[in-house]
Amino acid sequence: MKIDIVSVFPEYFEVLNLSLLGKAQSKGLVEVTAHNLRDWTHDVHHSVDDTPVGGGAGMVMKPEVWSECLDELLQLEPAVIENTENIEDSADSFDTGDSCDTADSDTAPSSAGPVLIFPNPSAPLFTQQDATELSHADHLLFGCGRYEGYDARIPQYYRAQGIDVREYSIGDYVLNGGEVAVSVMLEAITRLLPGFMGNAASIVEESYTGDNALLEHRQYTKPAEWRGIKVPDVLLSGNHAKVDRFRRDEALEKTNELRPDLIEALDCAKLDKADRKTLMALGWEVSAAHPRKR
Ligand code: SAM
Repeated sequence: MKIDIVSVFPEYFEVLNLSLLGKAQSKGLVEVTAHNLRDWTHDVHHSVDDTPVGGGAGMVMKPEVWSECLDELLQLEPAVIENTENIEDSADSFDTGDSCDTADSDTAPSSAGPVLIFPNPSAPLFTQQDATELSHADHLLFGCGRYEGYDARIPQYYRAQGIDVREYSIGDYVLNGGEVAVSVMLEAITRLLPGFMGNAASIVEESYTGDNALLEHRQYTKPAEWRGIKVPDVLLSGNHAKVDRFRRDEALEKTNELRPDLIEALDCAKLDKADRKTLMALGWEVSAAHPRKR
């Protein structure tokens, strides 16, 4: 997978040479290049921002610098879009994740070719489903916003050029820039690449993963008793069926308590008899397509 990152602080991404992502680069699984947006400026101050049209505080990232950079990295010729007066409603242009509803949604991004991703706190939330989908792309290009953000015409223009453009928030808070958000997304995506993890099984049963995603059960290691706290007896029983059931029930209970929205999204047809019993004991009605709180 080829990954380009554009930022005014490319040094920030030196951290990607560490740990598993560093190993994945050495193994040739991923090739990460961080570019300095200022390399595409022409003025003496290397400025990438300007005051907001319409007034207001702060500065906005200029479209001309971004377009020179993105055209080069995406190997596109500059173009002029007709009907420039109508700025597309940004709410309509966000990838709302609807494309993920299809059965093969986790097997490929919505279009072949590069995927251009802008972190943005006012965009739809980046999820494990997005990470899974993007882990099948050949080329990801991330653009890190700074200041008040980037000119809204940048994603609009590249969508109009046929590029798969995504804007994602990593959570309901505002960071100073997109660098942290890109690191988060990059780690979530690349750890799903075949060969990335030493043990491939460790990414199969995780929180938010799979068809009927739940939060994962609690994890314990040795010793069996530590500072007076014992691990649950069943985990020491050696009875794999009982261990699996205990963990599954714990996952259902934890998800019920912390993320009932994930329970509501479960497909009842894919729940086994014991799952249904546990959910009913937790106050869910499981006879319809999805669980409903009684
Ligand atoms: N004025 C913007 C707003 O209120 O929505 C905030 C801009 S923020 C200070 C600058 C940049 O940081 C954004 O363009 C984006 O790239 C990045 N950023 C900040 N918070 C983020 C979040 N929660 N998720 C993704 N990116 C974020």
